[in-house]
Amino acid sequence: MGWVARVREELENTCSDGIAAPVNDEPHRGISRRLMLGLGGATLAAAALSAKQVKKAAALQLADWTGTMDWVMNSPWRQKRVLILGFHGVASLDEDRQCPILFMSSERFARHLQLLRELRCGVLGLQDALDRLQRGTLPERSVVLTFDDGYRTFDHVVPQLQKYGFPATVYLTTEYMDYDLPVFNLLCPYLFWKTSLDQVTLDGFVGLPQKTALAIRTPLEREAAANFVKDFSKRLSVQDRDRNARRLAELLRVDYEKIFDQKIFHCMSRSQVKTLAAAGIDFQMHTHEHWLPTNDAGLRKPSVPTAAVSSALPAASPSTWRIRAASPTRRFFAC
Ligand SMILES: [Zn+2]
Repeated sequence: MGWVARVREELENTCSDGIAAPVNDEPHRGISRRLMLGLGGATLAAAALSAKQVKKAAALQLADWTGTMDWVMNSPWRQKRVLILGFHGVASLDEDRQCPILFMSSERFARHLQLLRELRCGVLGLQDALDRLQRGTLPERSVVLTFDDGYRTFDHVVPQLQKYGFPATVYLTTEYMDYDLPVFNLLCPYLFWKTSLDQVTLDGFVGLPQKTALAIRTPLEREAAANFVKDFSKRLSVQDRDRNARRLAELLRVDYEKIFDQKIFHCMSRSQVKTLAAAGIDFQMHTHEHWLPTNDAGLRKPSVPTAAVSSALPAASPSTWRIRAASPTRRFFAC
């Protein structure tokens, strides 16, 4: 089995990005695309695959199964490519069971790093990889480790990276940086997953004028209920969304304080970013609200994200950042 196949097998269904997920427009299934793009032509953008790229990916997979990949992966051709792995967060409680597409256990993550070592991958920092790519001096099996969103639990990741001496890049969202609060859109479905109730009547929420009864017996009903709450809360401030989260936890009889104390779904604070940056972690921009405007004019406007990240990382210059996003739509970022 080729080394890429081994990485894929290990990460399958557990990697935050869902490495074996079918190729489609969903953003957080990007690792398979990044994996293939990394093989097919070093790129940092997880753009939606064209039909040609899908065909190329299928051909690469076939080559992997037939053993051709072993030869290819050790060839001069492969040495001109960078494999970029995309992770999200390491779980602090049980959020990897509720949302395995974004979170994985610390043990699982440790096994991933061990595998990269066993496979003698040359794990590089992002800028180093780009420089070497340009100069044509990439080491064998070059890999870059990236972590989307910037979760607070990255603190658990750092010692593991240090153990292997692996550099890493965090793609940071900045909206929650100044709030010691869980990200509402992630917490909401978690609360519905956690409850043992079969139904709930929503009452006393910001942005919901009337009482609303919801059946929450099945996973589909719970998903619909979470989407309903997210929808009427989406235009609220971070603080009001958190008021709704606390009220929802109370009604669903889930312990909000435990979630808060464990820092589940929390993003990095400014001071954590500064500490990690000083320790050598690379930070890149991943938008402010996990969202980009859908048109060119919106994209060209001076944006809150730039200001927010700029003030969070005084040593960096906006011109050095890369926005890694698969598609400039809100749907893309709804996770
Ligand atoms: Zn993200």
